[in-house]
Amino acid sequence: MSIKVFNLCCEREHTFEGWFASAEAFESQLANDLLECPFCASKQVRRLPSAPRLNLGTADQEHSAIAAKSDISPAQVQEMWMKMARYIQANTENVGEQFAEEARRIHYNEAPDRAIRGQTSQDEARELAEEGVEIFSFPMPKLPEGPLQ
Ligand SMILES: [Zn+2]
Repeated sequence: MSIKVFNLCCEREHTFEGWFASAEAFESQLANDLLECPFCASKQVRRLPSAPRLNLGTADQEHSAIAAKSDISPAQVQEMWMKMARYIQANTENVGEQFAEEARRIHYNEAPDRAIRGQTSQDEARELAEEGVEIFSFPMPKLPEGPLQ
């Protein structure tokens, strides 16, 4: 099981990550205007060189991950998404609506450095990005609260 992570960039130079089942899936989403910048909603998205690759399998699967074809089913992508969401839920502190404020406090060393999650508006996300606060936008599915070990 592998998934491609591409570094993407919009016309306003916002950079973000895109997750795809394959390079073909990326190309087809790009061609169909399905990709948009999470900060400004621009559809003028391009791929940056030297994209990192997230390999969630074993070392033996490295090569198949690089050459991944679109033989990953939507159900598998869904499963990966849920796994990611659970990982984020288990490893971050939920600060809810205070996200932008708390992210800023951490950035300026006014709060303990830790991983947080929460909600933020597109405007707030853009302001944070402009201030150099690193945030990662991830569409969280509805999950039961509490650790799921
Ligand atoms: Zn943008």
